Amino acid sequence: MAKRPFFFTSASSVTYGTTARETQAFKNYSKNPNGERNQNGQLGILQDKIDHLERLLAENNEIIANIRDSVINLRETVKDGKMFPEGSMSQGNGELLPPAPALLPIHSEDCQFAARTYSKAADGVQMLDVYDLLSFDNPDGGVWKQGFDISYQDNEWDNEPLQVFVVPHSHNDPGWLKTFDDYYRDQTQHILNNMVVKLHEDSRRKMIWSEISYFSKWWDGIDEQKRDAVKRLIESGQLEVATGGWVMPDEANAHYFALIDQLVEGHQWLERNLGVKPKTGWAVDPFGHSPTQAYLLRQAGLSNMLIQRVHYSVKKHFASQKTLEFFWRQNWDQDSSSDILCHMMPFYSYDVPHTCGPDPKICCQFDFKRLPGGRISCPWRIPPQAITDNNIQERVQTLLDQYRKKSKLFRTNVLLAPLGDDFRYTEAVEWDQQFENYQKLFDYMNSHPELHVQAQFGTISDYFEALRKSTGMDPVGMNVGQLAFPVLSGDLFTYADRDDHYWSGYFTSRPFYKRLDRVLESHLRAAEVLYSLTLANIQKYGQPSDYPAVDNYKLLTEARRNLGLFQHHDAIAGTGKDWVVVDYGTRLYHSILNVKRVIVSSAHWLVLKDKPAYYHDPSNPFLQMDDVQPSQDALPRKTILEVGEKPRLLVACNPTEQARTSMVTVYVTTPKVRVLDALGHVVRAQVSAVWNDASHAATDVFQLSFVAQAAPLGLSVYQLMEGMEPRTEAAKYMFLQDGMKISVSKPEHFSQFYQQDAAPVHIENPHLKLSISKATGLLEKMRLKEDDSEFLVKVEFAWYGTTSNKDKSGAYLFLPDKEATIYSPSQPPVVRVTKGPLFSEVTTTFPHITQNLRLYNIHGVEGQSVEICNTVDIRGEINREIAMRITSDLNSKDRFFTDLNGYQVQPRKTMAKLPLQANFYPMTSMVYLQDSGTRLSLLTAQSLGAASLKSGQLEVIMDRRLNQDDNRGLGQGVLDNKITANSFRLLLEKRSSAEEAHSEETAPYSYPSLLSHMSFMYLNHPFISMAVSQRSDAPSLIPYSPLSASFPCDMHLVNLRAIQSKEEGGGPSEQAALILHRKGFDCGFSNRNTGLLCTTTRGKIHLEKLLTDLKVKSISHVSLSLMHTHSSDANPQEISLKPMEIRTYRLQLS
Ligand SMILES: [Zn+2]
Repeated sequence: MAKRPFFFTSASSVTYGTTARETQAFKNYSKNPNGERNQNGQLGILQDKIDHLERLLAENNEIIANIRDSVINLRETVKDGKMFPEGSMSQGNGELLPPAPALLPIHSEDCQFAARTYSKAADGVQMLDVYDLLSFDNPDGGVWKQGFDISYQDNEWDNEPLQVFVVPHSHNDPGWLKTFDDYYRDQTQHILNNMVVKLHEDSRRKMIWSEISYFSKWWDGIDEQKRDAVKRLIESGQLEVATGGWVMPDEANAHYFALIDQLVEGHQWLERNLGVKPKTGWAVDPFGHSPTQAYLLRQAGLSNMLIQRVHYSVKKHFASQKTLEFFWRQNWDQDSSSDILCHMMPFYSYDVPHTCGPDPKICCQFDFKRLPGGRISCPWRIPPQAITDNNIQERVQTLLDQYRKKSKLFRTNVLLAPLGDDFRYTEAVEWDQQFENYQKLFDYMNSHPELHVQAQFGTISDYFEALRKSTGMDPVGMNVGQLAFPVLSGDLFTYADRDDHYWSGYFTSRPFYKRLDRVLESHLRAAEVLYSLTLANIQKYGQPSDYPAVDNYKLLTEARRNLGLFQHHDAIAGTGKDWVVVDYGTRLYHSILNVKRVIVSSAHWLVLKDKPAYYHDPSNPFLQMDDVQPSQDALPRKTILEVGEKPRLLVACNPTEQARTSMVTVYVTTPKVRVLDALGHVVRAQVSAVWNDASHAATDVFQLSFVAQAAPLGLSVYQLMEGMEPRTEAAKYMFLQDGMKISVSKPEHFSQFYQQDAAPVHIENPHLKLSISKATGLLEKMRLKEDDSEFLVKVEFAWYGTTSNKDKSGAYLFLPDKEATIYSPSQPPVVRVTKGPLFSEVTTTFPHITQNLRLYNIHGVEGQSVEICNTVDIRGEINREIAMRITSDLNSKDRFFTDLNGYQVQPRKTMAKLPLQANFYPMTSMVYLQDSGTRLSLLTAQSLGAASLKSGQLEVIMDRRLNQDDNRGLGQGVLDNKITANSFRLLLEKRSSAEEAHSEETAPYSYPSLLSHMSFMYLNHPFISMAVSQRSDAPSLIPYSPLSASFPCDMHLVNLRAIQSKEEGGGPSEQAALILHRKGFDCGFSNRNTGLLCTTTRGKIHLEKLLTDLKVKSISHVSLSLMHTHSSDANPQEISLKPMEIRTYRLQLS
């Protein structure tokens, strides 16, 4: 992403996207059951009542069984000191009933972290306070437009000279206006090739590099001689790798799974090939900054970091307070363990005009690539002059003046002056121009002591080292020296670079791919875990196997890299050219296909009873995935399973680390199906229709849904057989338009019902009762059965347009014309109500949206929230954005909460002093609002922009179609919209402790409940179902359960990632990275039967008892990306994490 000269925008022509449009007709597949019953007869009513009583009876039995189990579990836990109950999910255990305790056995100590009262650090800057303080006016600051006049005394540096580090850098976007490969071919390879030559010419020259995606590609193509030359440059300190991630990631939309994965991929590459351990983070271009990234860098062992794109008002304020350098501390951190030293660049951009000092007109003259006669010049119309004996004195004075002024914004005499821009140093002559002219300036400065300046080229770590030295700090630690830096907590969203130009559009741009990213993440994680377990099992088994360990490792590596590439700040942000988006999409698509191959080949080995019978045939795999995505820009489709008299085996993979009960839905060829578990017990099932459109059912394919249970990280086996089965019930349907019954051709095999009265449509389960408007088909009220309380929860859709001003919304910017207008199509929607024993749903078809609102009739996590899937199609619109708005009667005032990267929750305040678009924030995993009694959360399966513009109201932008460029260099609008599925869960929770409400008014942190965390996991990591390819002689399969019990509820297995072997060939080593996260959670919610199949353990896991078949052979605590080994492992038999901690172990299983 390129900078634009500030206030100097050349007219850019708008190019409209010309990529292929979908030609496929949009088929709306949805689901439902029937019951061949007379809908208005007395018998039917009686039958319904009996059904209802039967269900109640079954539920009561289940509750009693759960209570009994939890008592047994608690007794066991007390007896042998185990901190979490055994799951009863192991193979061969009768009915496979999960032990869902009626009351969650949460250790009171585990509640203290979230319940503590907030106290501010002494020298603390809290971003929420800064936002309260600032007026967000935008006065003309003179030469530094968004700042102020800076003055200094000539003698200020007499005692301690100004120490200047000019840091040459080249910002290489891995895809933006060109694809990754095209940029590499045209620019990046030349930059790196020239670097080797030009740095060797003079040992005083320096350079930094950060994107390992490019660096590794280049490395693969250079010879040993050149590689040695690069190693020498690194050893001598002339070349520094900053951050060292695969890319410089987007910090708003990226989930922490992917942020970690791309960092590990980059650091592992560096360790294998260069033996380099990065010390300093470098992020000049992400559009706003997240403390999550600061935490991850700290956990990876980095000591310093630099950020650039921060709201201009915040920069100005920090500059005036000399707080541009600070220790960035996590909001939730109770001591200083998360601190990392951070430098915030003060000016508009990272280009040379905005990095030497406050006046871009002057600084541009010291960008020697812009010398007259070159391809680029200075927009301020004063060109650079090559440095000669004649002009050097004046040139030095002019530049030094800028350095001194910039220095006045900081607390020390050490000054950072980055020297670079996008794709700089491509040609040898540019190296000469910059390095020779600057060297002359430095030589002159350094040989004139009366100037009191010492200037040189440096790397970013050279700068921080000198900075730390000047304040008496040690080189890597975080102890505050004599010139103390302040501590900053909070985040740096939402970014504005000028005027009311808030970069909140990219929180939603290209939402189809934001969702696709999440699909790859969940499949990659499942593939990594299954792969690691399979490798260890094969090794333990001790027999040679046909299992494709090396091939699968290559597929995983490629998927890690494609996912990593997509975290780039122009990729997941949705801010690339149309064809670049297609390139990313194709990579994600292929990697999803590839990791599915890893999943099926691993699952095959793990569930096979007779291991020697394993074979690997990529052209005819034993298992086939339940869904298939036909192309990179199309929604996935269900595979249709043929079901006959012989059992068709189905394997369900539980990617979550707790025992789980969830719905599995497959498409089958007959409505007469029985579902049996691995032991041959019949499982309750629901058959629903597959819909070709709002009211036309397919006649040859049916949805089969059943409640599957699986062990933590386990694989369950089910059998499908043709035949009549009383435990398989059909859904029944009602069709409405404008509140009235409409006649549809009777769907074969399914019955219809009709509700005569004018009351809303109700669907309910043991936990919730929903009221849905007959006219709009949208949710209006939610009733919690636990205390029979009812809440207004009204779902609507709304349109935003774009302003009539010159600058309009585009890929980056959100510049709405006014408040949103409610979506009200001229034709009332067709509303299809489905009622069935396992789930009920309402499907409403509008011209631009099909909403599917579903309630699972399942005790436990799945039944606690409402599933909402909006399939959005705005391809016919001009300059419009579509939002979903949820209005409640919660008295949340101006306060709401959004997450950062799925890792932590950031409290927000909607501010009238800010324009509408400034009040939108990134939502990666959830947004919620609350009052003293209730919390309403919207959990999401894709990153989007969210806001709460009125008390009680939540709003999410779901797609945006924009006909123009927004002048940030992209040069096009956003017109490549796809049919996009946005998935959410809506969760309403009663709060139990009202006294907390006081302190939390001001507390800068908040935590989801355990139920909310778990519901997010269920939404983002659904069961993965695979069917055994049809064959007559299916071998016996057995369920697989690798863990002896569920992980503690608050402990998340982020990844179990096989580490590459040191040997050539790219295969796996015997070690894996075990990455764990102990989630922060709030206990202050009603202790209803949430159905969580786990408890908490004060952050401890006993390794001895962790696994069923495998053993932990060795384990060592390492830094996040495995660069550093922490030796302080007192008790290797026990893992222990603090709340919010993410920790990596190097693990070997046997
Ligand atoms: Zn960039």
